[in-house]
Amino acid sequence: MPEVHVIDHPLVQHKLTLMRKKDTSTNKFRQLLEEISMQLGYEATRDVALEIERIETPVGPMDAKVIEGKKLVAISILRAGDGILNGILKVIPSARVGHIGLFRDPKTLQPVEYYFKIPDVVADRDVIMVDPMLATGNSAIAAVERVKVTKPKSIKFVCLVTCPEGVKAFHDAHPDVPIYTAAIDERLNEKGYIVPGLGDAGDRMFGTK
Ligand code: URA
Repeated sequence: MPEVHVIDHPLVQHKLTLMRKKDTSTNKFRQLLEEISMQLGYEATRDVALEIERIETPVGPMDAKVIEGKKLVAISILRAGDGILNGILKVIPSARVGHIGLFRDPKTLQPVEYYFKIPDVVADRDVIMVDPMLATGNSAIAAVERVKVTKPKSIKFVCLVTCPEGVKAFHDAHPDVPIYTAAIDERLNEKGYIVPGLGDAGDRMFGTK
């Protein structure tokens, strides 16, 4: 059964509402995205395995828990993915980082890759892929396909907002990749925007419009 985790923590929901408001400034939008993404990062790593390490506290020895295995890899889908990436790196500072750039061909409407740079150690590591808006799902699907070729141990997809159409398309293509999101909105409009959503996440993050 494909997994969708909606992070309904009150702080996440409150901050998302502030982000949705059309008068929220670029500066505030970026700051809120980073704050929410820290929480999304915690949720997406809730099930990572722990092992025991013998340590010394100032008071005495103990068997303490540490994360087992290799450092995970966070992959941002450009350009808006970098907003979530910043928050993820705050809570997982040792993560390796990759970037994938895709644009939509205006004729075929299919995603075309223009940039692909990921660490060459992805095989056998857990990967978290990030993009704030899972809308049509086309770029997310293509990006995950591309990363799967590198044979990671697992992939999780973290977004801020999605919609039923995006979840369905994504899980039809990648039923094995769980989605972590702060909201599943009502629908997709004819221009491929999530309704009510928050507009163009990239433009709002970078102040490009
Ligand atoms: N990308 C965005 O930035 N916003 C949407 O609503 C859909 C795709």
